[in-house]
Amino acid sequence: MGILEVKNVGKRFGGLQALSEVNLSVAENSVHAIIGPNGAGKSTLLNCLVGKLIPDTGSVMFDGQSVLGRSPFEINQMGISRVFQTPEIFGDLTVMENMMIPIFASRDGSFRMHAVESVVSESEVVDYAEQMLEDMNMADKRHMHAAAMSRGDKRRLEIGMCLSQKPRLLLLDEPTAGMARADTNNTIDLLKQIKEDRDITIAIIEHDMHVVFSLAERITVLAQGTPLVEDAPENIKGNPKVREAYLGE
Ligand code: ADP
Ligand code: MG
Repeated sequence: MGILEVKNVGKRFGGLQALSEVNLSVAENSVHAIIGPNGAGKSTLLNCLVGKLIPDTGSVMFDGQSVLGRSPFEINQMGISRVFQTPEIFGDLTVMENMMIPIFASRDGSFRMHAVESVVSESEVVDYAEQMLEDMNMADKRHMHAAAMSRGDKRRLEIGMCLSQKPRLLLLDEPTAGMARADTNNTIDLLKQIKEDRDITIAIIEHDMHVVFSLAERITVLAQGTPLVEDAPENIKGNPKVREAYLGE
């Protein structure tokens, strides 16, 4: 049993069957990549996992509990954190202020993240945010306006904001999209570091094969809304079915 178990998920948008019979098992503490051509249904699948979309059929279990019927907030509280395709940070605020937001939010009784319940006083919020910035190697940027940073650093901050909630499953939707090569490589190193340092499972949707093969222990290929193959990276590379799915891109 994986920490995330997706069974027979289907999702239709009007006349378009965006997902059909999707099965996916993500092993705890692994890095699992979901790849596939544009329009394959990758983001739709991710949205079904975090409560932004409700599948028409099937089940989604996280750590033995169903996520279906729960709000994105409730699913987040279960221990799933998601990084969006475009960075979602507050550009007018400093890096430090951004980092404090999810920690402050988790302190409030109405928005209590079980994992960071121990953070209570304001000075503890500041200490924890500073420690997170150090963990992210961003301590020197704490006073910078978030908007002034490179795409890679914005992404780094956003990943840090997610990690401050101590998720058990981190979901990333094309985290290196639109990045220069140097930023992409920094993001790869960051994710490797996170994997090494933390007790965490990572599921990553990615178009860039360099990123996929640098990180993934397991790969699911989605094509036209349904899994085509699931295998170890070395078996995906030369798979003719995978090549065919990407032809005509
Ligand atoms: P991917 O992330 O793999 O590129 P998506 O999951 O974004 O693919 O999209 C899969 C298919 O579903 C595409 O044909 C897309 O146009 C369609 N689609 C995605 N979201 C919606 C929506 N909210 N309404 C209608 N069609 C959608
Ligand atoms: Mg997408």
